[in-house]
Amino acid sequence: MICRDAVAALRALGGCEVLAVSRWYTSPAWPPSDQPDYVNGAVLLATTLPPMALLRALQAIEAAGGRQRSVPNAARTLDLDIIDYDGQMCDTPALVLPHPRAHERDFVLLPLADVAPGWRHPRLGCSVEALSARLPGVAARPL
Ligand code: ADP
Ligand code: MG
Repeated sequence: MICRDAVAALRALGGCEVLAVSRWYTSPAWPPSDQPDYVNGAVLLATTLPPMALLRALQAIEAAGGRQRSVPNAARTLDLDIIDYDGQMCDTPALVLPHPRAHERDFVLLPLADVAPGWRHPRLGCSVEALSARLPGVAARPL
């Protein structure tokens, strides 16, 4: 699975240590389309890379995984996002922290709760569990 290869690539990344890997979750493409289902997971990293260097490293792993960038939400083979970096808040075109849509996505919150139970959203101040409980519906299912 491409996701497992991505975790292997993170383990091989200098300045990064993989501390935890979530279960894998499957869910329909969002927004709804005829794309195949996606697989999502979360990885807890300890890193000496600053946020932008980490983002560039993730984009290099995406490129190695065969990702072609086209239009937003186009079908993709691999998408590696930074959900949170040590509670930092950042709002630049290249990097928004915490990830601006993480709190409304079941396929982010469920794996995030696996690797970081009790994690609090730096802007909203809510726990990952409270954010999950607030979701209107949950489509993501553990594989
Ligand atoms: P998305 O992940 O939103 O579906 P992309 O992976 O194509 O879409 O990302 C588009 C841009 O989002 C990237 O070029 C990157 O610079 C920017 N970006 C902003 N914040 C983040 C973040 N927290 N994690 C990953 N990418 C981010
Ligand atoms: Mg992305």
